[in-house]
Formats: sequence, C-alpha cells, structure tokens
Amino acid sequence: MTNNNMYFVANWKMHGNTRYIESSKSIIKLSKQKKYKNHKIIYCPPYTLINHFHKKVKKSKILIGAQDCHEILNFGPYTGSINAKLIKSAGAKFVILGHSEKRKDGDTDKVINAKIKSALVENLKIIFCVGETLLQKRKKLTYSVLKKQINLGLKDIKKFANIIIAYEPVWSIGTGLLPKNEDLKKNLNDIKNILKKLKNKKNSEVKIIYGGSVTPKNVKNLVEIKEINGFIIGGASLNSKKFIDILKKSTI
Ligand code: PEP
Repeated sequence: MTNNNMYFVANWKMHGNTRYIESSKSIIKLSKQKKYKNHKIIYCPPYTLINHFHKKVKKSKILIGAQDCHEILNFGPYTGSINAKLIKSAGAKFVILGHSEKRKDGDTDKVINAKIKSALVENLKIIFCVGETLLQKRKKLTYSVLKKQINLGLKDIKKFANIIIAYEPVWSIGTGLLPKNEDLKKNLNDIKNILKKLKNKKNSEVKIIYGGSVTPKNVKNLVEIKEINGFIIGGASLNSKKFIDILKKSTI
C-alpha cells in the first residue's frame, strides 16, 4: 500500500502569529520532494493570518483554509462576522465547517448546512467535521449521531465533489485518547455507507480524514487503516517539527 496522496490539515484554532508562519518554510521544502508531492497540505490559521499566510505560500503547493465562515453569503450588516466571500478573497481555498468546538458554540446541523452551501457557492472545498461525544459513544449512539450530522449537514446538496468528511470523535480531540482501530474502521465504513445512501453512485469517492490527538507517535498505526485518506491535526500542527514528523511517518 502506498500512502502518498493524503490530506494533512493543520487546524491552528485560536493560535498563531507571523513567526509560526515562517516555520512553514520547512514544510514547503519537504512538499517539493517527489515522495510528498501528491499530498495535500492545508494550513487553517485564524482569520487574521489567512492573507499573510496565503501570500507567503502562494508559489508553493501549500494551501490555506479557514476554520469557519458565516452562513450568509452576501455582504451585509453582520458585525464581527466573516463569510465565504471574505475568506476566499483573503486566499482561502478550504474551510473547516461543523467542528465540534463550533457546534459547542451553538452551530446546529441546520446552520452548518447553510454554511456548507454558502461555501460551495464560492467554490471552496469543505472539511466537514462529524463525530460523537463520549456520552454518545457510551450510550452506543455513534452511528445515529453520524447519520444525523451527515444527513442534515449535507441536506439538499447535490454534488459532493468539494466535500471532505473529517471524522473527529469529540472525546479524542485534544485529549490524547484515540479510538481502537476496529472501532475507527467501523465508524469510517459507516460514514461511507451513510454517504452512499444519501447520494448517487458518483459520490462514493468522498475522502474521509481522521482527527483527534494525532501525533508523530500514533500516526504510523493510523495510516495502516486503509479507509483513512488523511488527517486533521490540531495541537501537533502548532509545532512544525511534529507536523513534519507526522507527514514523514505517514508516507510510505
Ligand atoms: C482538531 O481540533 O480538529 C483536532 C484534531 O485537535 P487535536 O489534534 O489537538 O486533537
């Protein structure tokens, strides 16, 4: 099995400054090597750094994403809000939507669906996060949670070409806890089946990435899981040495 066509999404959350961006130079260098050149490396810094970061990397194959966007597509009187048009004009090609930290802030499935639709109008690629909480896992509700989040999040969306699903068990984010391989495989296959039922055959190729406490130590085990097409990495992506190590250890 070769793993040289994967997604590596760095979710910086509410961290970062221009010095952090300088550290991406080493990733740019690595990404030029043949072995890594088919990977998609996407940095999602806070809104305030998107344009600066975009200018720094625009001659490389590094891509920039945002961590969220407002659901309203047109400009208007929404103080403090940033929509898909604005992130796109700043240089973002991707946007993370449905992250559990935004769901916790009040993003419902309906709001996430509206955000996804607005970002698709702008031709952005969506990293659509789904996943169960620890309580839901304990109550054996994982499948129904995933089904509801996917069915409602992608409601009325006809084409999935610009959709990537990020399976992020909420209990794994930032905790150092990881699902067992067999549970992970089951949940990833459940996601594939939910997607298949939702749409026509053309959409069976939606990429699914995993997020939750990925580190250089555990990534080798995770890449063994053939259903995983890449990773969304929070904490470890803030340290470029660790991020590089994750890339190296994932690449066979
Ligand atoms: C995330 O927040 O998307 C994430 C995966 O975080 P961490 O890697 O820190 O668990």
